[in-house]
Amino acid sequence: MSDHRVINILFHGIGTPRRELEPGEDRYWVTVDQFHELLDEVVSWPQARLSFDDGNASDLEVGLPALVERQVSATFFIIAGRLDEPGSVDADGVRELRRHGMPVGSHGMWHRPWRGLTPEQATEEFHTARDRLADLVGEPVDQAACPLGRYDRAVLSRLKAAGYTRVFTSDRRPARPGGWLQPRYSVRAEDTAESLRDIVFGPGLLGRARSSAVGLVKRWR
Ligand SMILES: [Zn+2]
Repeated sequence: MSDHRVINILFHGIGTPRRELEPGEDRYWVTVDQFHELLDEVVSWPQARLSFDDGNASDLEVGLPALVERQVSATFFIIAGRLDEPGSVDADGVRELRRHGMPVGSHGMWHRPWRGLTPEQATEEFHTARDRLADLVGEPVDQAACPLGRYDRAVLSRLKAAGYTRVFTSDRRPARPGGWLQPRYSVRAEDTAESLRDIVFGPGLLGRARSSAVGLVKRWR
């Protein structure tokens, strides 16, 4: 893997959900201890960039303090239609994230897949949701993350036309730092620091990187 690639890591909920989860969503929730372990791992990667999807209450209660403590930032993709709902961040929470320097992006209005939307639904998902979030934080919101990682050519055209400057997916591969489309690796419920490292870098690649690093050290001596 090139050193110029970015590794986008995506977190969802942390701890015990306080709303009914969507089918299959529990695969992406991690415990508080697990989150801290995974966060410590990824902040040690110089090429890692972090984001949180869905605007769960745990973004603010667990995510934010852990980021502040480690002096790192993450982008929070909020579901505009879920603001103030039980288990989700509220308007003050979003402003609190922003006050701590965390970029806020749109995860749409209702967390429905963006493929095959009617024009009215597309307006709601790509414009109304973003405007609601922009009003909250008092500045434009120009980054989006595709709900459930689903998109197609038409979705991307609509996002481009709506003026989004960066769009995040869940395609599990490295990203170009300046790329308009940003693939991410979703952290899963069974992940450990080691498994995540293997998924992202591959055991073989990591082994080779380690041995070449050892080689360099030897040469410098
Ligand atoms: Zn989502």
